[in-house]
Amino acid sequence: MTKINCARVLVADDDATVRLLTVAALEKHQFEVFVADDGAAAWTALQSSKFDLVLLDIEMPGLDGFSLCRKIRDELKSDVPVLLVTGHDDVTSIECAYVAGATDFIAKPINWPLLGHRLRYVLRSYRNVQSLDAAKAHHRAMLRALPDVLLRVDTSGALSEQHGQQNASTATTPALLAEYLPQEAAAKCLRGVQNAVKTGSVQEIEYAIEGVGQKRRFFEGRIAPINQHEALCLVRDVTDRREADQRIVSLAYFDPLTGLPNRASFQELLKLTVYRAERETSRLAVLFLDIDGFKSVNDSFGHTVGDQVLQRVADRLRSSLRLSDSLGRHMIDWVDGTPSVSRLGGDEFTVMLPVIRSPDDAMVVAQRICDAFALPFTIDSQEIILSTSIGISLYPDDASSPQLLVKHADTAMYAAKDLGRSQAHFYSASLTEKAMHRLKMESALRLAMTRDELRVHYQPIVDSNSKRVVCFEALVRWQHPEAGLLPPAQFVTLAEECGLISKLGAVVLRIACADAVRWNDGRNELISVAVNLSALQLSEPTLVADVSAVLSQTGLSPRLLELEITESALVDRSEIALNSLNALRGMGVRIALDDFGTGYSSLAYLRQLPLSSIKIDRSFVENLPGSTADAAIVRTIVALSENLGLNVIGEGVETIAHIQSLTDMGCSSLQGFHFSRPLDYKSLARFLRTPLNFAEPINSV
Ligand code: C2E
Ligand code: CA
Ligand code: CA
Repeated sequence: MTKINCARVLVADDDATVRLLTVAALEKHQFEVFVADDGAAAWTALQSSKFDLVLLDIEMPGLDGFSLCRKIRDELKSDVPVLLVTGHDDVTSIECAYVAGATDFIAKPINWPLLGHRLRYVLRSYRNVQSLDAAKAHHRAMLRALPDVLLRVDTSGALSEQHGQQNASTATTPALLAEYLPQEAAAKCLRGVQNAVKTGSVQEIEYAIEGVGQKRRFFEGRIAPINQHEALCLVRDVTDRREADQRIVSLAYFDPLTGLPNRASFQELLKLTVYRAERETSRLAVLFLDIDGFKSVNDSFGHTVGDQVLQRVADRLRSSLRLSDSLGRHMIDWVDGTPSVSRLGGDEFTVMLPVIRSPDDAMVVAQRICDAFALPFTIDSQEIILSTSIGISLYPDDASSPQLLVKHADTAMYAAKDLGRSQAHFYSASLTEKAMHRLKMESALRLAMTRDELRVHYQPIVDSNSKRVVCFEALVRWQHPEAGLLPPAQFVTLAEECGLISKLGAVVLRIACADAVRWNDGRNELISVAVNLSALQLSEPTLVADVSAVLSQTGLSPRLLELEITESALVDRSEIALNSLNALRGMGVRIALDDFGTGYSSLAYLRQLPLSSIKIDRSFVENLPGSTADAAIVRTIVALSENLGLNVIGEGVETIAHIQSLTDMGCSSLQGFHFSRPLDYKSLARFLRTPLNFAEPINSV
């Protein structure tokens, strides 16, 4: 770039004196000066040489300053600074100068000492404009070459500049960010702009755009503040890069044949899950599966069919683990720890159950998987029959490290194969037996409902004042075809776990109400019936309707029915439970709180419940009258019940001493072996015909 001081200046003036003085004044400032006597001479010079500045007198013979200036602009297409020297400083000629395209004007008489300075300023600002134009052109080229979108946005979301196209559909230049981007993306971008301006630092954003009929595209942007209210956003479409990344991840972590997680991801997941189980002291199971006889599929049908079989196996595994009601309600525990299937390689698969309550849960799932192989696999109209052997290891029971868990599950799988394939085996043999027993019991219990194997026995509750039976508690029994009459301890929990309790409860309720109608037939002092409700039944939304249906079917008065609930049924204080209790109470049904003292009910909470009775748990009666601590508890419960207007029933009354101390403390309703063990209906009828025994138990001594 030439220095201002060496700039070439063309001076055109017909006045020789002016020319001389101008040359002298400018050479003092180291300008290189060229002179022309008139407009025509200047025009010739301009056509052949380049000048950095032109100084033209307006009034020249022939071609005047205005015309020459216009020619420079129009014909030479030059933007060289042109200064017109005018004798008149009237507004018209100044205006004419600008219209002709002059850069500036100088009025006569010329101030010679200042002339050089004046020209230097004109040149400097001209060069500034020139370099600005060059920078602009550079930027324009850069923006066109850049694949990114560039936006200039202010903190209110107004868009003042936009380069590059985000989506082809934007035809007109939008004035607002919100017109340019979809709502969510625009909001993110605006937040970025505001933060950038506020903090003065570069912000990063990410957003996705759902193109109509196109795939979702992902963008990443960086936002840099320009000033107090504007920022520049540079946004890049990263969809292709993301897709490539995802492909890499899926190749590393998924088995391409079945789409299941592969060995690497299984190991990673297991490590995390063991870590979590350790922290939460929960139990997890690893199931190791091997397809029985898969080698012969490959040998006889070829690898292509073998591959298809593996894909079908993967599908069946997936669907057999899908959460469903038939899995039983306890499986709901898995909602935040869904079981996962992986393919380790070949015909080996694993299933991980991240949270199980008992080993039996793992066996239930394993059995389901074995069952899923019952139907043949049809490939190209060929039916292939397969089965799977499953080994199960448990954390923390069998091992605490992920590696050992897999190893033990593998060992257990071989044990299952040895036992004759198509079955599951725990790493610890005793667990297998227990789980098989449970599974057998479960299916037997299912059958028991349909085969009328449930029995209801009745235990009397007596009133020590009137010395009469006031109620019979219905207690369920299972007449097992092989094991004989089973007490509830052996199957009620099982029924709760496998979702059979509502059905069981309904059967008991129906029998008990029907029996109560029978035993009251022709009686003056009516005897009510107490039926136990499981916590799960209490949370069933249909409970109230079910109870009232049974009452109307059997014709039993609601006043003669008492439902016994336990404190555990109320721990989660479910709305449904409380509403049901209120509705039942409203119908006239009585509600007793069973096993009182063993749970955690707060007295304040008890007050909210529509109770009629409280049953003092057997454990507090057992050691009466010897235990002063238990006596204190019983006394408190009796006082509390009186305060709440509730009837108190003492359970587990086995001796005269129990009767004595309970009645002394104000508890007049009594239940226990002293009066009678639970009786079948026939014995109940006989019992009602004999007087009550308030002396020594009949069968003792
Ligand atoms: P529960 O409701 O506390 O029933 C009283 C249990 O104590 C009965 O055991 C009864 O035989 C026993 N028992 C009564 N008096 C005495 C006594 O003086 N000494 C001793 N040692 N025991 C006595 P059972 O029949 O084995 O029932 C056990 C539990 O099974 C019941 O405890 C109840 O929680 C549950 N259950 C029974 N029938 C049903 C039912 O139909 N549905 C539900 N959900 N649970 C039931
Ligand atoms: Ca009870
Ligand atoms: Ca009880």
